[in-house]
Amino acid sequence: MSKRDYYEILGVSKDASKDEIKKAFRKLARKYHPDVNKDPGAPEKFKEATKAYEILSDPQKRAQYDQFGEADPNQGGFGGGFGGQGFGGADFGFGDIFDQIFNGGSRRRDPNAPRQGADLQYEMSLTFEEAAFGKTTNIRIPKEETCTTCHGSGAKPGTKPEQCAHCHGTGQLNQEQNTPFGRVVNRRVCPYCKGTGKSIKHPCSTCAGTGKMKVNKKIEVKVPAGIDDGQQIRLSGQGESGVNGGPSGDLYIVFAVRPHKYYQRSGDDVLLDVPVSFAQVALGDEIEVPTLHGKVKLKIPAGTQTGTKFRLRGKGIKNVRGYGQGDERVTVKVVTPKHISEEQKSLFKKLSALDGNEVDDSDASFFDKMKKKVFKGD
Ligand SMILES: [Zn+2]
Ligand SMILES: [Zn+2]
Repeated sequence: MSKRDYYEILGVSKDASKDEIKKAFRKLARKYHPDVNKDPGAPEKFKEATKAYEILSDPQKRAQYDQFGEADPNQGGFGGGFGGQGFGGADFGFGDIFDQIFNGGSRRRDPNAPRQGADLQYEMSLTFEEAAFGKTTNIRIPKEETCTTCHGSGAKPGTKPEQCAHCHGTGQLNQEQNTPFGRVVNRRVCPYCKGTGKSIKHPCSTCAGTGKMKVNKKIEVKVPAGIDDGQQIRLSGQGESGVNGGPSGDLYIVFAVRPHKYYQRSGDDVLLDVPVSFAQVALGDEIEVPTLHGKVKLKIPAGTQTGTKFRLRGKGIKNVRGYGQGDERVTVKVVTPKHISEEQKSLFKKLSALDGNEVDDSDASFFDKMKKKVFKGD
């Protein structure tokens, strides 16, 4: 290991505060952490910084280092930190140390502090019309609620949970671990109380000491008119119950709208293709068009081309945020008849002759017929 000064390694002054040292180390650790930095020199740099931090962050070790330099009378020199443990065989992980340094705060969390319950998600399937108009419906959500017998304590009524003797109510056990970088204190969830910090001598019989019970809670959901596929609403406080008196989580309802047979949706507009005959567009017609709000008469002017769009104002979907109402957009599709009667056939021939085209019934190929048409003017 390098003989460089530990202050120099961290890039701090001799009178740096604990905070400055921590900050400097975090910066270096982020830079050289082997999970992040694949440079071959990075592990050595990371080790160096970890070692320096281990000494300088501990007031006792720091004082000793300031006074005696590198030699540590108790450990036989810092260079001996590897202590004969093989790098590969040692029971350590960068992850542990990283966790220790960066997440130490959250691990020390008081098990008795109020915590918010988890959020829940529920997917609700809707028809096209249900999404357009909204509805009120009841759903059942399997969730954990605070046990009504013991009110969450987990102890039989009349008794109280006691402090866990193993972790003294902290829910954590400290475990010292020797790593190639020195001794590291790992905090583990107390296995005796499973992190609750409490010991229950007489568990509540309703919830078997968990303080929670599984229920199928009935919840009324008001589906807002205009909701679209993939959108969600939040029902505040309808998630899992909180712990130690903390607030409940929220329930998110995510909507899946099933496709409609004829309608399609574009924002708040409804799209509809309407098939019409050649005669209808050639002569003009008034047709009945279905909308979400009932049938509507639509005038098709003579000479309308296939693909022409008509807008039926206000016949679409109500905006979910209350910004007005969409339209229905109708696209006229002229349908070419597949089967026609003899009478129709003769009428089409007459029509074609009037257009100046002679209908060729011969067996000439498609291209020959096309040529005849295209070049007929020459
Ligand atoms: Zn209970
Ligand atoms: Zn415990």
